[in-house]
Formats: sequence, C-alpha cells, structure tokens
Amino acid sequence: MADCIFCKIASGEIPSKVVYEDNFVMAFHDIEPQAPTHIVIIPREHIASLDHVSDSHKDLLGHIFLSIKKVAKALDLKDGYRVVSNCGHLGGQTVSHIHFHLLGGRQLQWPPG
Ligand code: C5P
Repeated sequence: MADCIFCKIASGEIPSKVVYEDNFVMAFHDIEPQAPTHIVIIPREHIASLDHVSDSHKDLLGHIFLSIKKVAKALDLKDGYRVVSNCGHLGGQTVSHIHFHLLGGRQLQWPPG
C-alpha cells in the first residue's frame, strides 16, 4: 500500500535494522524499543490488522509464528519472551499493517497497561 510505513520498510524504501527476512516476512528492530530485545515481525503482504485476516492467510500466519520462533532462537531469548499483536484503537495499534512485537531480555510484567 502506497502510504503504509511498514510496506515501505518491507520494500526497502525506508531503511530498518533487519534481523530476518524471506519471501513472506521481515523482522527488524523496533525504533522505540520497550525491552532490551524488541523486534517487529511483519508480513510483506499488506494486511491492516489481526481483524483483517481471513482463511486465505492461514499458511502465512503459521509462517509468521515459525519465523518469530526462529528469530527468538537467533537472538538467544532462551529464558523466555513475549509476542504481542496490538489490534485497533483500543488495542494500542498505531501502524495499520499487521505486526507482531517480539519482546525479551528482561522480566516482563503482567497484565500490560
Ligand atoms: O503496535 P503498534 O502499532 O503500536 O506498533 C508499531 C511499532 O512500530 C511501534 O513499536 C514503533 O516504535 C514501531 N515502528 C518502527 N519503525 C518505524 C515506525 C514504527 O519500529 N519506522
């Protein structure tokens, strides 16, 4: 999508600190990290949010989660980590391109704010 910041990151138009990429997904360091390790994982395909996924995305969603596991292992998050997808206004979503936060490297609290 033309004015989507994560589509621009996926295409390389906007630079990012990439930790993993393949034909379907990209994972990069969040520019405002909320934990010692904070990675954003996105599909290359523009999907606005978790609320916009459909049956046709089942394989892609599985691939995203397997990629997250791969990134967590590569970044040595062996003591644990958290995966979050903020959805919509009340969910705290600020970028309308579905993404998953991978957070780790410190004791995370529950419940989140
Ligand atoms: O869940 P939410 O939509 O708020 O997450 C968007 C995330 O994308 C934020 O954590 C923000 O710091 C990150 N971001 C980024 N690089 C950009 C724009 C936003 O890492 N160029």
